[in-house]
Amino acid sequence: MNILIMGGPGAGKGTMSAKIVEEFKINHISTGDIFRSEIGKQTELGLMAKSYMDKGYLVPDEVTNAMVKSYLEKLDNTKGFLLDGYPRTLDQAKAFSEMSKGTSLEIEKVLVLEIDFKELAGRVTGRRLCKGCGEIYHVVSHPSKEEGKCDKCGSELYQRKDDTEESLKVRLEEYENSTKPVLDFYEEKGMVARINAAQPIDQVWNDTKKALEDK
Ligand code: AMP
Repeated sequence: MNILIMGGPGAGKGTMSAKIVEEFKINHISTGDIFRSEIGKQTELGLMAKSYMDKGYLVPDEVTNAMVKSYLEKLDNTKGFLLDGYPRTLDQAKAFSEMSKGTSLEIEKVLVLEIDFKELAGRVTGRRLCKGCGEIYHVVSHPSKEEGKCDKCGSELYQRKDDTEESLKVRLEEYENSTKPVLDFYEEKGMVARINAAQPIDQVWNDTKKALEDK
């Protein structure tokens, strides 16, 4: 099954993505993670993407589409994938639709995690990630046992550079402006399932599973 997951910053996309990938044993393709890994390796692509990401702007479509295309060409897609953070603009959705038409890469289901944006600031600024295994924490709602250290692997926790209120505002605007047309694009094809992401994690997960099971 090929799934696209959407939701504004802080809607819980990372948490649900990890659960989906584990449950359905599919590939996780997160363009944000790929960009961060390129930044870590200080590649040309990474350095270019960083200048946009640090300010909360989207990386240009041509760059992102080309990166996804080359990533998918190398992918063994026998079980399907979860696309996370892509397509994020109408141009990307159209480009992906072209790229995947008639292949095993076509998107079958679009999950949208919906949450009132006003609730998001606290979620996003309190988020902490593990440098080692990527586990996600929150300083208030899901703190690690020892401050700054991952419960799972003991590595140091860090805050994403763009998880600030200032950057959040820009990212929300970007989300509103760019992502709505993407949703409309898939809505027309009848592929969208909306999930109330303001609920406790277990409930969000139940609803997510149900949406994916009654395909
Ligand atoms: P994320 O981890 O999905 O929140 O992405 C973090 C940042 O990576 C975004 O704010 C963008 O700067 C960049 N990014 C990730 N995916 C895309 C995309 N599909 N198109 C453009 N920029 C992206």
